Amino acid sequence: MKAALFEGIDRLALRDVPTPEIDQDYGMLVRVKACAVCGSDIRILHHGNSRVKAPQVIGHEIAGEVVEVGRRVNRFKVGDRVAIGADVPCGECDYCRDGYGNECRINYAIGYQFPGGFAEYIPLNPITVQYGPVHKIPDGVPYETAALAEPLACCINGLELTPLHLGDTVVIIGAGPVGCMLAQLSRHLGAGKVILAQRSRARLEQARRFNADVYISTSEEDLYERVMAETGGLGAHLVIVACASLEAQRQALGIVRPRGMINFFGGLPVDSPPLEILSNQIHYRECFVTGSHGSVPRQHRLALELIRSGRVDVGSLITHRFPLERIADAFQMAERKEGMKVVVEPLG
Ligand SMILES: [Zn+2]
Ligand SMILES: [Zn+2]
Repeated sequence: MKAALFEGIDRLALRDVPTPEIDQDYGMLVRVKACAVCGSDIRILHHGNSRVKAPQVIGHEIAGEVVEVGRRVNRFKVGDRVAIGADVPCGECDYCRDGYGNECRINYAIGYQFPGGFAEYIPLNPITVQYGPVHKIPDGVPYETAALAEPLACCINGLELTPLHLGDTVVIIGAGPVGCMLAQLSRHLGAGKVILAQRSRARLEQARRFNADVYISTSEEDLYERVMAETGGLGAHLVIVACASLEAQRQALGIVRPRGMINFFGGLPVDSPPLEILSNQIHYRECFVTGSHGSVPRQHRLALELIRSGRVDVGSLITHRFPLERIADAFQMAERKEGMKVVVEPLG
């Protein structure tokens, strides 16, 4: 089969490799129909990741068709359409058994320790089939849309950790695909005012279709001033930093209201300097600062249901499609951030 292999820092190559073999009892083979490019794929390509050993197929926002199942697999059959997420609970440790497998110390993930989706086929090992984020795609949901259940699941995880209440004001810094998903979920959770902030004007324009109440271009306007104007000087109940920016994390502390919450949703590169803050900002405001990352299989299943019911529109976030042969172009396009979501489709 054809597969895009991560072969080391800044090396991604299309290769002919043997079609993977699966565990004959509990494994499964899926023909990949769509795999979206995630910011973390780009981070792996440029910076590597301790959980990714080259050569490896990366890519973890996946949908495809089951083409082979182990004898003892009951939940799936050949021909099933499935969406596959990233974090795979080991199923054995206390975190996994308590339902937060994204905190698992082993932290297995598709496209990290396990082969990912930038290939014609993806093998799923017994742990993934049994405990992982693998779910049937509801009828009527296209493969490429179902692939985006993975990032949507991460957004659900984020909002479970920093919940919104009716009428709350939320500021989302970063109007990329994840920011747009968070904006839609915030609306469903009852936010009174959804404020989307983004540096690049082009991306902010593309985010307009997702009906936030306020759009702030932070290259043209002062974020602090504008948020204060929009909140009567009080600040936001919830600030989600949905971008990889130390500066945005610092700004978040300035625009949260007393007793409000901050979620550092976007991870920073490993070599990023530490965030220096005046802790009195937290002390006197009694605000809550947390982070969130990844998701658990339950949230991946819920994401598919929200997509099916039309409550969250992820399909229109897809702005570019590339065949697997043009994986390098796909990554470049995603990196330029001109569009929103870039999807790689291995079979044409
Ligand atoms: Zn992702
Ligand atoms: Zn575990």
